[in-house]
Parts: sequence; structure tokens; C-alpha cells
Amino acid sequence: MPARILVVDDVEVNRRLLEAKLSVEYYEIITAENGAEALERAKAEQPDLILLDIMMPEMDGFEVCQRLKADPALTHIPVVMVTALSEQSDKIRGLEVGADDFLTKPVDDWALRSRIRSLLRLKMASDELLRRRQTGAQLGVVDDSLLVREVTGARVLVIDDSPSKGKIRDTLEAQGYEVQLAEDVAAGLELGTKRSFDLVLVRLRLSSGDPLRLCAQLRTSDGSRSVPILVIADAEDRERIEKAIEIGINDYFTSPVDPSELIARVRTQVRRKKYNDKLKADYEHGLVAALKDGLTGVYNRRYLDTHLDSQLKDQASSGREITVVMLDIDHFKQINDTHGHMAGDDVLRGLVPVVRESVRDFDTVARYGGEEFVVVLSGDGLDVGQKVAERLRGAVASTPFVSGDTSLEVTVSIGVAAGRPGEHATDLLSRADAALYRAKEAGRNRVVADDGQAEPLAATSSSVL
Ligand code: GH3
Ligand code: MG
Ligand code: MG
Repeated sequence: MPARILVVDDVEVNRRLLEAKLSVEYYEIITAENGAEALERAKAEQPDLILLDIMMPEMDGFEVCQRLKADPALTHIPVVMVTALSEQSDKIRGLEVGADDFLTKPVDDWALRSRIRSLLRLKMASDELLRRRQTGAQLGVVDDSLLVREVTGARVLVIDDSPSKGKIRDTLEAQGYEVQLAEDVAAGLELGTKRSFDLVLVRLRLSSGDPLRLCAQLRTSDGSRSVPILVIADAEDRERIEKAIEIGINDYFTSPVDPSELIARVRTQVRRKKYNDKLKADYEHGLVAALKDGLTGVYNRRYLDTHLDSQLKDQASSGREITVVMLDIDHFKQINDTHGHMAGDDVLRGLVPVVRESVRDFDTVARYGGEEFVVVLSGDGLDVGQKVAERLRGAVASTPFVSGDTSLEVTVSIGVAAGRPGEHATDLLSRADAALYRAKEAGRNRVVADDGQAEPLAATSSSVL
């Protein structure tokens, strides 16, 4: 896993030591010797992970971590705090300011490797979502608040049959989590895959069944794939912990369970889960907003242009034909003027199912302008396009459009044009538009095919949304 790791420590020997250990694993190492430099380098170089010393003059590790986590551009980078103290309270304070994990000096090679591997894997998942979200952001459709502070009301599944299961449940419930307890592998799997949880907590040794297998099943099942798994292990159970990390669990801690550490680790995982959920939701929401027309639910012009361009490029290499059918409602202004704008909207909405019924599922329907729609027929030439257009024209003319108590007769004029390999979408659309113009000129409610002529100067029908 190639990755860039930022090592922050005020003591040069410590930086060198970590650098040497990590370089063996083929990570790219960058360093900072104080908090301010750490924040700067994090921003400039976007590392995949930060190893952060706690005891530093001026700005200590807690403060650096807090600042990293409060910055939307950096909050997704996992932070591992490194300390000479093995004080439990430090650990907890670190997790509270948002650290993702902890290592104690002298750093144990095995712990270093396993922690880093599991955190990097987690980050790669967030990165993919972040990339998608940025595409949405470039289209200017998503908001910018990604910081997740609230984790109350999250649902946690605890799979444990040890004497401390009750105490774990009570501790989490006292924090406002909704907890479900399963006492064996079968029950845990059933619940974990069927219901939606924000975290699964599994004890790595259960008297019945194989918890590792359970983790693997949770990881691969559709219902639980993105749910973080936190494991409780015995400190000497290294082999199992290593296997669990390979399977893809997100974090572990060792028994006896310290309540504060339990709370902090659960919170860290749930926070990350919510962060990813939000990224996903933003992405999906943004996608719909960016590509679909709000009134009719079909694709918008922005999508159409991109889609057509890529289809035309495709045509150049595959020879697969592509034809556009451009239709415009006749005398639509009159419908608005006579029956009101709402009735006009009803007609626009009502037109979409009629269009869809006349074309195939995989043909693309888009709203091109006010009362102008485009259907992209992929795999068809001008002949088929004309037939489809004629069928579509007939369907619209014979369908009553209902708005309130009024039934309206609607007709459309249609222009059809076939794509030329490698041409731009705008050129193809303007030939279809020219044909549509001639259909209007010839008396409306008819289909005209492109004759290769360019768009006339006095084009009527391309009103833009
Ligand atoms: P033609 O037969 O030549 O196409 O005439 P037309 O009246 O359909 O064309 P024109 O371009 O003159 O008028 C289009 C009208 O569509 C004007 C505009 O107010 C209306 N319109 C555009 N978008 C919407 C919309 O979202 N809802 C409603 N109700 N009307 C719209
Ligand atoms: Mg019109
Ligand atoms: Mg028009």
C-alpha cells in the first residue's frame, strides 16, 4: 500500500527512528519538528496518515490534533498519537480531541505496522468518497460542512459472551447509544447483516463459533460492508488481531476493557462512519441536483451535452450509430396564456411518460430547454430515428393531457439528426434544431429529418432554461 506519512516529533532522533522503521515498509516519509510546521505540511502535502508526538514545546500534540480535526480539508487524515507516557488518561484525551489511534514509545514494530495498515485502508475508502464529492463540488452543487461532531443516537451491535458484556452495554447506553447484544456468532451475523448499525463491537474469542469468520462475513455482506468493526482482544492474542486486521476490521483494543477507552474508540469509529455516510449522501444528492431537471425528473442539458459528446467519441471508434430526436411543444405559450403556468407545468410533466413509452429504456431522455426535449437513441441511424419520432409524435397527439379539471390537446414538432463520428454534441444538436425549425415552418405536429444543412439564422426553438 503506497502511502505518504507525516512524522511529527520535536526530537530529531525520534523522527529518524520512525522514518527508518517506516521506510522499510516502502512508505514515503515527510517530517515536521513542531506543531505549526505539522499543520503547514499537512495542508500542503495531504499525507495519508500522521504520526504525532504529544510532548512538544509551544503547541503540544493534543492541540495539533484538535486543529487538524477541525479543518474540513484535513479532518479525514488519520492521526496516530505517539507518547512516551502510557498514561491511560492521555490516551483518552487524545481520542477525545479526535486522534484515531495511539502508540506508546518505544514504538513496538508490530503495533506500528498493524495500526498503520488498518488506518490506511480506512482512509482509502474515505478518499474515494471524497474524490467523488469533489466532482460534485466542482459542479457547484454541494455544501461544505463535513465535520461530524454529533454522534448521539448511533446504533451499536455488541457481540460478546463474556462476563463484561453487560457492563459494556451499560457504558455505551449511558453515552446515548442504542445497543443490541448478541451472545453468539450466529445471532451476531443475523443481526449484523439484516439491521443497520453504525458500529459492530466483537469479542475476538467467543465460546461458540469463530469471531474472525464472523468479521469476514460482515465485511463482505452488502448490508454491513461499510459498518466499522471494533474488536476486543486479549493482549497476547497477536496472531488473531493480525488476522482480524487483514480481514479489514477497523480498530481493536485489549481487555480488561477500560470504560473511557471503550467510549473514545467507539466514538472515533462512529464519527468516521457518519463522515463517510455524509460524503455518500452529499454525493448522491449532489449528483441528482447536478444532472436532473427539477420539474420533470429527466436529465438536464448539462448532462445531455456530456453524455452526447462521449457517445459521439465512442462512435468514432466503435462505429455504433447515434441519433437525436429533438421535440418542441407546439404553441406552448398559448397553453400557458390560456390555462396558466401551472397547467403548462402539468403538460411538461405529463409529456415525459409519453416520451418514455415511445422509446427504449436505455435511450436517454433529457429536457433541453423550456418546452424542448431531446431523446438520444443509441445504436440507431436516421431511418430508425425517424420512425421512433413519428411514433412519438402520434402518441403525444393522441394522449389527453390533464391539468386539474381541464383536458388539453398537445402536439409536438420534431427534428431528427444522426451523429457523425467525432463531431461535437453542439453541432449534432444544432442540426436537429434546424430540422425542428423546418417542422415548425411546415405547419407543426410533424417530423422532419436533418438534410445536412446548418441551422438557419432565425432559429426559434432553443430557449435555454
Ligand atoms: P412554437 O409552436 O413555435 O414552439 O410556439 P411556442 O409557444 O411553443 O414557443 P415559444 O418559444 O414562443 O414559447 C415557449 C413558452 O414556454 C414560453 C415560456 O414561458 C414557456 N415555458 C418555458 N419554460 C416553462 C416552464 O418550465 N413551465 C411553463 N409552464 N412554461 C414554460
Ligand atoms: Mg414550442
Ligand atoms: Mg421552444
